[in-house]
Amino acid sequence: MRSRVQAHPWRGMSDSARVGPLATTGTTTVLRSGAVQASREPPGNTLLASLPRKEHRRLLGLLEPVTLGFGQVLYEPGDAITHVYFPDLSLVSLLTLVDERMAVEVGLVGYEGMVGVSLALGVGVSPVRALVQAAGTATRMKAAHFLRELGRSVPLQRAIQRYTHVLMAQVAQTAACNRFHVVEERLARWLLMSRDRVQSERIPMTQEFLSHMLGVRRVGVTKAAGQLQKRKLIEYSRGNIRIVDQLGLEAAACSCYRTVKDILA
Ligand SMILES: [Zn+2]
Repeated sequence: MRSRVQAHPWRGMSDSARVGPLATTGTTTVLRSGAVQASREPPGNTLLASLPRKEHRRLLGLLEPVTLGFGQVLYEPGDAITHVYFPDLSLVSLLTLVDERMAVEVGLVGYEGMVGVSLALGVGVSPVRALVQAAGTATRMKAAHFLRELGRSVPLQRAIQRYTHVLMAQVAQTAACNRFHVVEERLARWLLMSRDRVQSERIPMTQEFLSHMLGVRRVGVTKAAGQLQKRKLIEYSRGNIRIVDQLGLEAAACSCYRTVKDILA
């Protein structure tokens, strides 16, 4: 069963609170959402890094560094895509809404991809809600600049086309996964996908948020997380999940994890 979303903390957030660089104190960055993230060396966005050096350098001049906060909404369905985002250490969840009150995650974008691929397909509005699931750094580019560069750069076109294919495969697999695989397997898959993208065994996450990501009731997530913890694959404490046995969790995840990872490789 899917869950209602009216009470989400990110609902009603003002535009100014959605995105922006925030205060940095010592080795931590304090985010507007209240989350605190330890500084790490950003791995860089690999979609951008795959471009020839000359193309990459030209794009760098058009990219603006931003820090995305947990729960921020980059676009709602139907919103104009004013910027495309290239996550680095941040993680953005793509959610499809049903009847304007239920939502389920259909895609996950990290350092391997871009948020706003519809723009590259000639559509200027988002079909999904793009929600920041893990706070962290990213760069963004104005839509007009992105379209101009896409028109002149064949390597950028190829990189975006390839990534769009990967994302479509991920969305299709997720649709099948939501239909056929049980919550415990899906939770294990989701944790591994998140781990791969934030490059950390610790994933800041509440069960309430997870229930919306997986499209199941909170009690279902509690049960599945409890089972994974009992099997000593994860440790769950308030607001945090830590993967303690990666190989065990891979064995517990459904085959969709490997299927999507192989397409990306
Ligand atoms: Zn699955």
